[in-house]
Amino acid sequence: MAFLNDNYLKLKAGYLFPEIGRRVKVFCEANPEAAKRLIRCGIGDVTEPLPPAVVAALHQAVDEMGARPSFKGYGPEQGYDWLRGAIAKHDFRDRGIEVADDEIFVSDGSKCDCGNILDILGHENRLAISDPVYPVYVDTNVMAGHTGAADDSGAYAGIIYLPCTPANGFIPEPPKEHVDVIYLCSPNNPTGAVATRAQLEAWVKYAIEHKAVILFDAAYEAYINDPAIPHSIYEIPGARECAIEFRSFSKNGGFTGVRCAFIVVPKTLNAQTQSGESKPLHPLWLRRMTTKFNGVSYLVQRAAEALYSSAGKAQVKALIEHYMGNAKVLREGATKAGLQVFGGVNAPYIWVRTPVGVTSWQAFDKILGDANVVITPGSGFGSQGEGYFRISSFNSRANAEEVARRLQELKW
Ligand SMILES: *Cc1c(COP(=O)(O)O)cnc(C)c1O
Repeated sequence: MAFLNDNYLKLKAGYLFPEIGRRVKVFCEANPEAAKRLIRCGIGDVTEPLPPAVVAALHQAVDEMGARPSFKGYGPEQGYDWLRGAIAKHDFRDRGIEVADDEIFVSDGSKCDCGNILDILGHENRLAISDPVYPVYVDTNVMAGHTGAADDSGAYAGIIYLPCTPANGFIPEPPKEHVDVIYLCSPNNPTGAVATRAQLEAWVKYAIEHKAVILFDAAYEAYINDPAIPHSIYEIPGARECAIEFRSFSKNGGFTGVRCAFIVVPKTLNAQTQSGESKPLHPLWLRRMTTKFNGVSYLVQRAAEALYSSAGKAQVKALIEHYMGNAKVLREGATKAGLQVFGGVNAPYIWVRTPVGVTSWQAFDKILGDANVVITPGSGFGSQGEGYFRISSFNSRANAEEVARRLQELKW
């Protein structure tokens, strides 16, 4: 008999969102009237339609594909030059950050990139991952066999968890011990925290001293309001020698259903071979992409390019303002309700402390049952998330206002 990948059996079987779905279904079946007023602030998916500049670019690209002279077959696996160039210019060089066009690799999503990057990293790396965290970082390492089994709290042997708490502003400090690969996410999902320049400088210093690689997830960089907060890890001197950055069009352009993202792999970033030789990672990622990927569709790359047009930029700005307006309404509503609130200023997520003695899942059930609102229990993002819940501001303004109102009516 063929062997399966045993590592998959170690996974805490996709517990969080299926369990939320199950509880919501049970509640709605038992309370059909309440179900009609249900508002979902759970899963981190955008709600507003695509920017008009994107829609126009898609229409035009479809017409090109439908005519013999402008039809396109396979494109370059790592992305068309015009898109890589637009990204490198607008997101980096125009902001004074050194990134070359060919250091950009276009993909069909950051989630895939986060998992795929493990292809070019060794199996013996010591991993540091923040807690609570976007579950993809942990689960992809479990699948790749980089961990032992999970304990009762859901923590896997072999991962160094970095607790994110109010004491450190939910941004972890570098650990005392040595690690080789570090996952950082700022602005953060789920806590809505952002790393300051000084905090990122400390991480880059650590990574250079330890010859470690930082995997920096900046999927929510467009939500940063505070001009002092870095949008890219490459704003920190030295980061080109120690960091890979993940970006996505999902949360700025509303591309969660369109699918397009990119990573930056600087040509100056090295890691070591089994024999201890220092070699660049860039050629390995290029080789991985050209072997295992056939590129993002022409249509989608044209759609992504349109986000960098002046109309596209203005429309993205309006989308972000819409969601951040919701974040403000939700923050204020939760604060007036007497809850302790974090995040939601430079990120679309509000991280809320449950009232004393109430667990994350108890808060979930209470808010579902009494306010008919779906939130995400913090414990689903890691053991340090216990005692918190996440409210997403991806919604209509009317829904955000209604949720803010209902939170204030809740009697705990
Ligand atoms: C939504 C999100 C992404 C984007 O994923 P895509 O696959 O590009 O849609 C990446 N990282 C985090 C933390 C996210 O929440």
